[in-house]
Amino acid sequence: MNDFRYRMAKFFSGRAGVDNLGRAFARAGLLLMILTMITHSLIIYLLAMGCVGYSVWRMLSKNYQKRYYENQKYMERTAGIRSKLSGFTYNFRNFITDTKYKFRQQKIYKIFKCPSCKQKLRAPRGRGKIEVTCSKCHTVFIKKV
Ligand SMILES: [Zn+2]
Repeated sequence: MNDFRYRMAKFFSGRAGVDNLGRAFARAGLLLMILTMITHSLIIYLLAMGCVGYSVWRMLSKNYQKRYYENQKYMERTAGIRSKLSGFTYNFRNFITDTKYKFRQQKIYKIFKCPSCKQKLRAPRGRGKIEVTCSKCHTVFIKKV
């Protein structure tokens, strides 16, 4: 096993390895592969193979300086898109966390509005009819929770 690892390390030393550009092509290849399964298109299949082949070729390339330069160029060119994309992912994650939180809150608390000032209020569920005092206008009313 160690011998195998040593051979692998030796095989990969001095080669470009996996970089962002290679990863992007590998992902594109995977996506195209899925598209091939859906569309059965030969062109998409060839494109998928091309993408995967290119990413593997990059990984094994011994001209790592050139590959490094290409990767830098790719990173520069896609900086705008990548930051927008990561912003989108960030917002999406926040939205999920938010929704989960709200859902959990709704299970524990009953959320309702004050009848006089429309202030949002909450009370633990399952207590039956309770007397609520509005935190904003101090109106007292009966609410079933
Ligand atoms: Zn109120």
